Amino acid sequence: MRSVLERASNVALDLLFPPQCAICRAGGSVLCELCIAMLPLAEMPRCDRCWDDLRSGSRCSHCLATPHAFESVRAPFSHGDAARDLVHLLKYEGLTSLARPMGSLMASLRATLPAAYPIDIVVPVPLHRGRQRARGYNQAALLARQIANEAGLPFEARAARRVRATKPLAKSMDRRERASIVAGAFRADPGRVEGRAVLLVDDVVTTGATLDACSRALLDAGALSVRAVTFTRA
Ligand SMILES: [Zn+2]
Ligand SMILES: [Zn+2]
Repeated sequence: MRSVLERASNVALDLLFPPQCAICRAGGSVLCELCIAMLPLAEMPRCDRCWDDLRSGSRCSHCLATPHAFESVRAPFSHGDAARDLVHLLKYEGLTSLARPMGSLMASLRATLPAAYPIDIVVPVPLHRGRQRARGYNQAALLARQIANEAGLPFEARAARRVRATKPLAKSMDRRERASIVAGAFRADPGRVEGRAVLLVDDVVTTGATLDACSRALLDAGALSVRAVTFTRA
């Protein structure tokens, strides 16, 4: 719940620094309607579990061979141009005001709405304490809070935590390497997740290794199921 003071200070900030579109610099909002319309939609067909693009069929060979801990991942956009830029600005450039329109776009996905299947709580993929301290915020938590607000679901910021700092996953790493780096890096709090259907939120999914490791921790702590949503699919 936003305090009156917080809202008043946001209004004051908007007057001092009128919002500008992060992509085209047009005045009026942090992300304008025109730029939203230009974002690269995730094209079908895609794997119904990990959301990787497919030539045909409904499930990729990786998901057929080794099932993930999560039920599914969905992302409204592919990781092209403007969508990638938005993730970068939110994550590394401190443009936290982007979490609102980005979270709204994620919340408007049918797969994130409780109508599609039961969801009890919205949980962000946590950052390790040290990284969160250095960045000052967790971009996944900002997106998750916005989704929870719009979907009318409880936001559980502390349901999962990262117990081990891991080196960033690089593009050059293969699937197995990525999975081994994040394996066992998460723990979840049974008191917050037991018997609950979880919507897990992150900014980007690549091979699904991070979402998988976090989902496993949530399931180990007694979560009923985990479905994930991200802004883009790299
Ligand atoms: Zn724009
Ligand atoms: Zn797949």
